[in-house]
Amino acid sequence: MGEPNFVKTICGYCGTGCGLVLEVQDNKIMKIRGDKEAPVNKGQTCVKGAFAYEYVHAKNRLSSPLIKKAGKLVEATWDEAYRFIADNLSAIKTNWGSNAISMFACARSTNESNYITQKFMRTVINSNNIDGCNRT
Ligand code: SF4
Repeated sequence: MGEPNFVKTICGYCGTGCGLVLEVQDNKIMKIRGDKEAPVNKGQTCVKGAFAYEYVHAKNRLSSPLIKKAGKLVEATWDEAYRFIADNLSAIKTNWGSNAISMFACARSTNESNYITQKFMRTVINSNNIDGCNRT
């Protein structure tokens, strides 16, 4: 086994945004602890941030986008997936107007991701139809 690397990151489980330090060995997460230098959590984490990381290496985890074609989900490239989303959102906006589109943001995303999500909805889609459980 190689030497462990210690990688600082932000927990993605909720909007609190705790700082974490991942112990990574041979490209695999071996352990997670709270980042003592992170102002949000000062080294503390809840049980999810510290222990719920086995999904990262799960064999059945999706590793590419899927697009439904003729009733079946088919693997696609990221370019195809983004084009598919853009084409369909544009078509809805053209045919039904901006208010026909809404977005539900994710409490498990970072504050930065949620900020970009609302910015996208308000400036690109031109709709205020955005909500999420993270506003409570
Ligand atoms: S899930 Fe837990 S560790 Fe992760 S950001 Fe939220 S409170 Fe912090």
